[in-house]
This record gives sequence, C-alpha cells and structure tokens, in this order.
Amino acid sequence: MGRLAYVNGRYVPHAQAMVHVEDRGYQFADGVYEVVPVIDGVLIDEEPHLDRLEYSLNELMIAWPVTRPVLKLILRELMARNGLARGIIYLQVTRGVAPRDHKFPAQAKSALVITTKRLAPPSEAVLRNGVAISSQPDIRWTRRDIKSLSLLPNVLAKQAAFEAKAFEAWLVDAQGAVTEGSSTNAWIVKGGEVVTYPKNNDILGGITRLSLLELAGRTGVKLVERSFTLAEALAADEAFITSSSAFVLPVTSIDGKKVGEGRPGPVTLQLRQIYLDNVARQIEAARRAGER
Ligand code: PMP
Repeated sequence: MGRLAYVNGRYVPHAQAMVHVEDRGYQFADGVYEVVPVIDGVLIDEEPHLDRLEYSLNELMIAWPVTRPVLKLILRELMARNGLARGIIYLQVTRGVAPRDHKFPAQAKSALVITTKRLAPPSEAVLRNGVAISSQPDIRWTRRDIKSLSLLPNVLAKQAAFEAKAFEAWLVDAQGAVTEGSSTNAWIVKGGEVVTYPKNNDILGGITRLSLLELAGRTGVKLVERSFTLAEALAADEAFITSSSAFVLPVTSIDGKKVGEGRPGPVTLQLRQIYLDNVARQIEAARRAGER
C-alpha cells in the first residue's frame, strides 16, 4: 500500500487526495498550516505546534476542524499507516468549502488535510560546509505571526534564492532589518552573543526558535532578541537558521560573501547539539510513555 493522506475524515491514497475547487484555501489562501517534525516515529514539540495552530486559527476566526485530542489521534494514525519514522507531518486547516465570496461563509465547516513526508537528515556535506543565503526584500503583510497558507512572497523569495544558488532567502524589511528566512528563522552570533529578531507580528514565531531560546537560555548562552541588519550579519562571527525540518543549520555565506571564517562556527554547532539532545529526550520520554 502506498502513502496515504488524510482528507476531511478519510484516509485516501496520496495520489488521489483532492479537495473541492471551492475550498477557501484554494481560492483565497483562507487557512493556516503546521509542520511538525517526526524523528524515530515521535512527534517533536507536538504541544507547542498545536498551541501555535490554535493561535493561528483564533487570529483568523477559523474553528478547529476536529478537537485537539482527536487531531492528535489522527496524526498518530496517519503516521502509523504510512510507517513514518523520520520526516514531517503537514497539516492544513481552511475555512472550508463555500461559494466564492470574500466574506466568511454563514455556515463554514473547517476543512482538514494532513500529509506525511519522509526526510533524510541533512547530509554530512551540508553540516560540514554550511549553507548559503541570498538576501531578498521582505514584501509580506503585517501579520507574519499567523502561520497562514498565503506564502506567495515566501515562494518568490525562495525561488530568487534558488536562482542565486543559495539554500535560503533572508528577508530584509524597509528599515534594513533581517526579519527571518523564507521558511526559517535567522540568527547571528557576535562576540559570544546569539541574536535573533524579537517575537512580534513581523515574524513567524518558529517552534524551533522557541525551543532553542529555552534550551540555550538554561545553558548560560547569552541570547538577545533584537533586530539586526545584513551588514551586521556579514560582520558576525557565525550565522545559522532554524526550522522544524532543518533544526539548526549553519550559514556560511550571505550574498556570496563569507560569514566569519566561512565555516560552521562552534556556537552554532553547540546549539545544534543542544537541540538534538532535546529531541533525543523527547523520543526517550515517548518510549517510556509507551507511545513507541
Ligand atoms: N519563519 C517562517 C516564515 C516559516 O515558514 C518557518 C517554518 N514554518 C519558520 C520561520 C520556522 O518555524 P518552525 O521552527 O516552527 O518550523
């Protein structure tokens, strides 16, 4: 049996997983999503991801498609049916299917789609060499804190980065601040200080960002949440990105110029390890709780 997707109450073959043409996600990007990492068959940071889903739904006045406990059961069922050991689970909630009209439908029933994807860990070469960044203008709306389906500016930035032979785009706002990546949070290290943009409406509050701030804070690493410019990033000792699929990845060049020595830095690698240790603890806890 091939991979399955969950579509509004049914587990269907991935290739035949479809939604209606008048799904508001399709027509208006009227919905939200989450990406939860899966390692050794365990959902990592599941509760913070579901908390953020709740936040996004509330901000857009979209109802939960199923209750939170039921959603957790469905996530596990799909992972089990697909034998997903390592990768990501993608879930999307839209305001549902209704005749096309901008205002909210009178009787909307939220639609839920869930898919899984296997992902290999980053290659040795990526970890050894780090990744390249291309800076791009941040042309997004002012509610980037909502994990909205509306990703067109992010798509355009990532494509431009790809064409510039970079792994990720860093988005630079009108004031010259690097807000975040197209699908990652952005960090620099300078003089032992680890800097990332503050959590507000200008960025998506990454769950990996949140975990890392909590974990690293406990180890005595000096963390500062403030904006930084591209020039500062180029003059930094180290840089890195975080996300649910990349975890912590070193950045070694920006717009073709080396960051620091042009090699993954010690603080970045330490933070990556701190994050991975926490993942291992979550897997161990799930095992003890009999989830695996
Ligand atoms: N910023 C943006 C714009 C993103 O799309 C993502 C990935 N969802 C992130 C940051 C990183 O968030 P997380 O650590 O929750 O994956």
